[in-house]
Amino acid sequence: MKIAFIGLGNMGGPMALNLQKAGHDVVGVDPAGGPDGIEMATTIGDACAAADVAITMLPNGAILRSVASEIIPALPNGAVLLDCSTVDVDSAREVAADAMNAGLGILDAPVSGGITGAANGTLTFMVGGDTAAFETAQPLFDVMGQKAVLCGGSGAGQAAKICNNMILGVTMLATCEAFALADKLGLDRQAMFDVVSTSSGYSWTMNAYCPAPGVGPVSPADNGYAPGFAAELMLKDLGLSQDAAASCDADTPMGALAENMYEKFVGQHDGLGQDFSAVLPWLSERGRSTG
Ligand code: NAD
Repeated sequence: MKIAFIGLGNMGGPMALNLQKAGHDVVGVDPAGGPDGIEMATTIGDACAAADVAITMLPNGAILRSVASEIIPALPNGAVLLDCSTVDVDSAREVAADAMNAGLGILDAPVSGGITGAANGTLTFMVGGDTAAFETAQPLFDVMGQKAVLCGGSGAGQAAKICNNMILGVTMLATCEAFALADKLGLDRQAMFDVVSTSSGYSWTMNAYCPAPGVGPVSPADNGYAPGFAAELMLKDLGLSQDAAASCDADTPMGALAENMYEKFVGQHDGLGQDFSAVLPWLSERGRSTG
């Protein structure tokens, strides 16, 4: 397929390279440049004029809306706009409406799996849109990922992503909080892991991504808390979940508290640039009256 790839940063760069390696014809657009080996176009219009699919991997909804307003008039009728960025549900739905009005296929398809998943082609795609566009994009999902789930209509992919990551943020905080309590109660971390990982407190954050170094499978904790999944990206996703909750009057007190704690961790406590599991050393240092 002829692919215009817009946004070739930490995620988009390796995704574009994998598509090219698989034999697709990829042209990139990014003011910051792209990875070696990808042909770059100067304008979005040039990249999209003959494209079968335009893929976007951008930082946020405002940038997506602005970029989409250039992509949509440039794509040939019947082409598909595949947005893989993590953005707010409203932006995803607004872009979808504009694309459909212009006779294009449109999918919101945020990913999980991070930079390693992007490089290894093992991302999971959570997809919103119609079946025809999903089928067009399936060969591209097969190259860039290990799984793509069609979750429903436009915005459903973003909804799935932010609900998943709200659980992830809350669960990570609960896991770290429990380790910090166990430490203060004199419970050995390995014993804590051995019990919880096989008891009713088990979770992905305990069993697969344990925030305590030297315990459980290898995780960012064993690498000085280098991300992994950066705390500021978790904060972004928690913010999206709370904006979405406000827009539909959903009561999400645990998600709101998690956003508040990651805000403190990133803004005031060296969390910026650390993995989101690095809240464990932060919480361990705190007492009940620490501000
Ligand atoms: P990044 O900042 O590394 O890349 C974004 C790229 O978009 C940059 O290269 C930037 O120059 C480019 N860009 C900005 N404005 C543009 C424009 N107008 N036209 C063309 N390009 C433009 O970010 P990333 O880590 O690659 O993340 C991209 C998206 O993927 C985000 O929505 C993020 O939330 C999501 N995501 C990231 C991860 C991760 O681990 N990094 C994991 C899952 C999802």
